[in-house]
Amino acid sequence: MKNITILGATGSIGLNTLDVVSRHPDQFSVFAVSANSDWKSLIQICKDYQPSFAVLSDEASAEKLRAVVSPGVQVLCGEDSLDEIAAHPNTDFVMAAIVGGAGMSSTFSAAKAGKRIMLANKESLILGGNLLMGLVKNSGAEIIPVDSEHSAIFQCLKGGSDGLSKIQLTASGGPFLKTSFENLKSATPEQACNHPNWKMGKKISVDSATMMNKGLEIIEASFLFGLSASQIEVVIHPQSIVHSFVYFDDGSVLSQLGLPDMRSAIAYALSHPGRIKSGVKALDLTQQESLEFHQPDLKKYKCLELAYLALEQGKSAPGTLNAANEVAVNAFLKNKIGFLNIPEIVEKTLQEVSCQNLDTLESVVENDQLSRKIAQSFVKSSD
Ligand code: NAD
Ligand code: MG
Repeated sequence: MKNITILGATGSIGLNTLDVVSRHPDQFSVFAVSANSDWKSLIQICKDYQPSFAVLSDEASAEKLRAVVSPGVQVLCGEDSLDEIAAHPNTDFVMAAIVGGAGMSSTFSAAKAGKRIMLANKESLILGGNLLMGLVKNSGAEIIPVDSEHSAIFQCLKGGSDGLSKIQLTASGGPFLKTSFENLKSATPEQACNHPNWKMGKKISVDSATMMNKGLEIIEASFLFGLSASQIEVVIHPQSIVHSFVYFDDGSVLSQLGLPDMRSAIAYALSHPGRIKSGVKALDLTQQESLEFHQPDLKKYKCLELAYLALEQGKSAPGTLNAANEVAVNAFLKNKIGFLNIPEIVEKTLQEVSCQNLDTLESVVENDQLSRKIAQSFVKSSD
């Protein structure tokens, strides 16, 4: 029996994780769950799974949940409590599914404690990739990617990475694949969040529309698989059936296919090196429309170009890219800036914040905060 902590249990990945876990009550038990402040969504989860801990961001929400759940569920609040449930001696696997930089501290905590980290929160790697990978190595922790493309590559590399020449991340192109650059100016948050293939949280949905999500995934892949920017390509594949490709020196290409449903990657992160049922229907290629692959348009998807730039610069640049993007996406979702202001703010922030080495978690946090402050000033000036 494996005990699982699900950070971000009320989100899209969190709920899909609960769905997979509940199919295997003989193998997995939910040890702890967390949410930001949506305590109401945690009520049913606590009833159904009876975790030992439920963690919310603030005491007011924790108080409300405490009043309605059974006494067996200890309700805590704050980042220290997230760190605690991620590193708890009674937890085996940690699903890191908080959105954004807010998930970094608990991911690091799980890494220090030598847990299996099922990593959905790619932002942890973008912010402090070298440090996180170093911690994982020293503590004996494991990172099993949950991002579908990285899960695909991880699965393709099960036989080793001898002779690997490059990888190709597939990208759906998001809701604006067929929208002209001109029309992107007036794109609304509702349109940006209306992803054709995947049902996801708002932040990653906007990231998919700008293709910053793929940009962040390039950086994520570089840390996870030890690859340089020149070994990571992006190909637009609107059907989201092929989840990525690995190219080898002998001309062979491996890929992993499946319907666009995150439960496959979540199930694999839970069961690796074995496999379990996920609830995802079998793929029938004879019933699919034809599969297409195109080059991405870097002028239209400027965020992709900025992410390559940040990866090549290294050091604190990926963290700055991520911080500026979070600030800009948040402002866009609140209708404070336009869609095309997102890459503009990220670019200006990258130019403004000096690139430096990040040797400690404190320096990662400092760079994140400084970058957010500067990005925020650009949001104000585009009002
Ligand atoms: P979501 O918005 O649906 O859920 C986010 C979860 O984090 C919620 O439980 C929320 O309560 C919690 N949360 C939000 N802000 C918080 C804060 N400040 N402190 C503590 N908790 C907080 O997001 P999602 O789509 O499930 O994505 C989660 C992560 O997984 C992201 O990093 C995303 O990039 C990654 N991811 C998601 C998908 C997907 O299909 N949804 C695919 C690949 C990767
Ligand atoms: Mg992905």
